[in-house]
Amino acid sequence: MSLSEPPGNMKIASLKGVGAKTLERLGKLGLHKIQDLLFHLPARYEDRTSLVPIGRIKQGDHALVEGHVEVADVIAKGRRSLVCRISDGTGVLYLRFFHFTGDQLSRLKPGAILRCYGEAREGYYGTEMVHPDYEHISGGEVGSANQCLTPVYPSTEGLHQKSLRSLVGRALELCNEDEGILHEWLPGELLSTLAIPPLSEAVRLLHGPPVEAGLKRLELAKQRLAFEELLAHHLSVSRFREHMRQQPAPILRLGETVSRQFLASLPFALTAAQNRVIHEIADDIGTAKPMMRLVQGDVGSGKTVVAAWAALAALSSDCQVAFMAPTELLAEQHFRSFSQWLEPLGVQVAYLAGKHKGQVRRDTLESIAEGRAGAVLGTHALFQEEVKFQRLGLVVIDEQHRFGVHQRLALREKGARDGLYPHQLIMTATPIPRTLAMLGYADLDVSVIDELPPGRSPVKTSVIPSTRREEVIARISDWVKRGSQVYWVCTLIEESEAMECEAAENTAAALTGALLEVRVGLVHGRMKQGEKEEVMARFKSGSVDLLVATTVIEVGVDVPNAGLMVIENPERLGLAQIHQLRGRVGRGPGDSFCVLMYQPPLTQSAKERLGILRETSDGFVIAEKDLQLRGPGELLGIRQTGQVQFRIADFARDGGMLDQVKSTAEALLKHHPEAVVPLLSRWLADGTRYAEV
Ligand code: ADP
Ligand code: MG
Repeated sequence: MSLSEPPGNMKIASLKGVGAKTLERLGKLGLHKIQDLLFHLPARYEDRTSLVPIGRIKQGDHALVEGHVEVADVIAKGRRSLVCRISDGTGVLYLRFFHFTGDQLSRLKPGAILRCYGEAREGYYGTEMVHPDYEHISGGEVGSANQCLTPVYPSTEGLHQKSLRSLVGRALELCNEDEGILHEWLPGELLSTLAIPPLSEAVRLLHGPPVEAGLKRLELAKQRLAFEELLAHHLSVSRFREHMRQQPAPILRLGETVSRQFLASLPFALTAAQNRVIHEIADDIGTAKPMMRLVQGDVGSGKTVVAAWAALAALSSDCQVAFMAPTELLAEQHFRSFSQWLEPLGVQVAYLAGKHKGQVRRDTLESIAEGRAGAVLGTHALFQEEVKFQRLGLVVIDEQHRFGVHQRLALREKGARDGLYPHQLIMTATPIPRTLAMLGYADLDVSVIDELPPGRSPVKTSVIPSTRREEVIARISDWVKRGSQVYWVCTLIEESEAMECEAAENTAAALTGALLEVRVGLVHGRMKQGEKEEVMARFKSGSVDLLVATTVIEVGVDVPNAGLMVIENPERLGLAQIHQLRGRVGRGPGDSFCVLMYQPPLTQSAKERLGILRETSDGFVIAEKDLQLRGPGELLGIRQTGQVQFRIADFARDGGMLDQVKSTAEALLKHHPEAVVPLLSRWLADGTRYAEV
């Protein structure tokens, strides 16, 4: 450990007597350093503060009792177990152990005094506790119970509460010896404004609150920790942003003539929102600092053409553009749009497809390396080692929420050449509520395309019970007869992907049987990427009328002829997710419909949730509601991608503090820059990673 290292960074491994197995298990819980233990908060508490007379305990009680051993023996009847009877004069209690050692038995001598905590139940001989927590105590201690509630920590297999309690206890002792570990970085005024306790007080309280502490005090203590955690995240992202701002980037400009020529060639006029966002981008890329801009726009708002404009600016400034889509199918779709829009202006557009091998691939790679290919479309494979750009000036990432923050950062590094960093444009259809944007995306500037192209009418959404399935099927038949296409979405059943896929297979078979004249296609998560894309392509080309799909339907796929979508069991999905799904329809002229077919009965809250979708098609309103109802993880798929992971902070509870988090971060950077590194290493798993770039 270096001298400058904060004391809490000491490894748990440096504590005496912690074995390799225990360390491994702690590691599974993300506990490596002493301070990780301090922030590993109890999931709940047990009240072991008062002794209950044995005669008074009832079945189902969790109770702390004390008594002397009357008899202990191994009983072979039924499942072999060690049974021990204790008494405190008010009654007798049987302790039963299915796992035990000979040593344990030999210590349970008649007369030995035990203190036990466990759940009482009716056993074979009378009231018993199975595997209670117990300890031998000597006569002197009799009668005195714990002073504080006993913490029960989130744990993992093989790691006992006793070990965790003792480790946390040792970590707290170290804090007594060294004030530095829980050093207070927050200004006193802030603590009083927010009415939250100092760090050291909060940590101690949470690991062993006195019975009378009350929920309110515990909540405030948690908020205290959450505040600091959010602060650390904010600091790490703003430092990173600062760092990026210092890097040089190529200046990209699009001349008036070419810009006009490009816009005039489009079969439509840009919306005011698209124009505004183009100006915001132009301002960014016209300077020698790398742009980091997130463009949010509801599905169908026309983000691609905005990206194409930016691409043209890069190309006009002698730079290349990399455009990354989350799937091959989308990359191909963008390739077609870009070719159509940019080739007439003399730009060579390339598509680096996964399926291209051998000579074709080598040729593409060469044209990229030599700078002949100006705009290059592809999936994340674009950033493999073998892909070398001659002069990359702009990176566009479509549907960013599919990529983690780290992938995003890696791209920047990858793009850096000759000391110049490419500009970055990130596009997403998932509306990110302001509160969340402040954290996970705090390194990005945000533009919003808050307007749909004219003539799009919102998707008409109806909520109906599955008892009307026949009717829905009949409607599909009419729909297809009129030459339109239909999506049928099967949703997650019992949280099992396999079952979801099976349900989709069964539904596809049933619909094929019921709708003889309709050509049915099926895509689900267990199919190979190639197979999925082939079916999607057939749907796109119109040779499939009805596409039965699980929720894997690719984001952003544009099939304007599909005007009806049926979503089964929508009550299982988040609102934002349903909104995304239904954005697949309503991309062409004419009315479009979404049928939310739920499994009755529907709870009152589910009714309200689905009602929101019927009433509004504003992605932001829906996302805000979803955030309130489900939390940020669900909304952004964060849990899967590992974008923002908090140990303690909880958006529902702590979201309201974000403005103060932001201003505190600014104040600390200005007046106490020395606080930054200790705070980052205290809270972030990868410590000072962002701070050191
Ligand atoms: P998204 O924002 O979901 O990525 P796209 O860029 O795929 O949306 O655009 C959806 C469709 O709308 C495309 O067919 C596109 O050509 C078309 N489009 C884009 N902008 C306009 C506009 N201003 N007027 C009419 N149609 C537009
Ligand atoms: Mg798109």
